[in-house]
Amino acid sequence: MMGPRPALACLAAAAHLACACALPPTDEVHGEHLDYAWEPALTPCAGTIPSMDAFIPFAAAELGLRPEDLPRVTYTWLSEDAYYAQSPDDDFVHTGNFRLAHAYGAAPAILHELAHAIDDGARSGRRFFIEGLAEALTPSLRGGPRYHVADPRPFLTATMADDLDAIAGLYGTGGAFVAYLLAVHGPAPFLDLHRRLGPASTESRIRRVFADVYGNDLDAEVELFLGDACPAGATAVPQPYACAAPTLPWRTPTEFFDTRAIACDDPVTVGGHGDAYASATVAVTLDVPEDGAYELRALGDRDTRAILASCGPCPWLAHDTAIEPTPAIAHLRAGRHALVYTGDARALALAGAQIVRSPTFDE
Ligand SMILES: [Zn+2]
Repeated sequence: MMGPRPALACLAAAAHLACACALPPTDEVHGEHLDYAWEPALTPCAGTIPSMDAFIPFAAAELGLRPEDLPRVTYTWLSEDAYYAQSPDDDFVHTGNFRLAHAYGAAPAILHELAHAIDDGARSGRRFFIEGLAEALTPSLRGGPRYHVADPRPFLTATMADDLDAIAGLYGTGGAFVAYLLAVHGPAPFLDLHRRLGPASTESRIRRVFADVYGNDLDAEVELFLGDACPAGATAVPQPYACAAPTLPWRTPTEFFDTRAIACDDPVTVGGHGDAYASATVAVTLDVPEDGAYELRALGDRDTRAILASCGPCPWLAHDTAIEPTPAIAHLRAGRHALVYTGDARALALAGAQIVRSPTFDE
């Protein structure tokens, strides 16, 4: 489906026939599921390519598919200048883009674009469901609500031609609604819906196909979605990719403690540095032993972020927690959580967190 390296040149030519901009030379590694390329002046951290490669089977499992059902994809990390020279975007809002099975961007690991590249429905579907699926599979963990639960109906017929300002909210709302559909009904009906809709499907056609696929009226399903309740039987899919990270034990039955330096040459570190970019993340998981109050404290450098994210059911309702240096009480549910550190990829940033069971704060 693709030659050894001409991906981006084709891509730019397809988007801008008049564009004569040359693709900068890149290094490339062939993973098991994807090819990863980058400009030689950029340095991917040691875990970046294995992590991007392993995202393919992770995303396949989330969608009830086999990795071999997904197209082989390419991801290319470009400097900002090279990215903007290649990008078909006029507004330069995004730092990543994709065409068919080729994802690229001005950052070393943009999972959102990788999710598009493996989505055959993204070739010809409705923008709301294309972006909704990518957002559902790769939520940004910032602390606070993971998704933006709001009425999705105003965005259903948005097209790629719509200005982003005019459809602000499509990404967040689409991610929330698709996460709801995946968690409550499983991936099969969603993929059926996604593939049956074309880029110009009218609202009445979307409603017809939706009712056909789900056996329920769209308005009734939206009411359930907006109801803010976690229905019995809802699954934990889609999970943040960080939920697949290795699990660390607790230091004692009531205390989790972890400190580390974020080293770019460490195989667990994802990110990179070069050009204007210098960010890296390390993800681990931990099992919270029981529902209740916990005292959370960040142990790293001031500018290193630590986010705690539940891997439990009903992900569209999830609230993630930014752990701060000042201890704070949070009520956690029992079960698997992801802990994601982000720091400067060049500075050996110190990261860490302490989580202590605090029965005195239980209600
Ligand atoms: Zn997108």
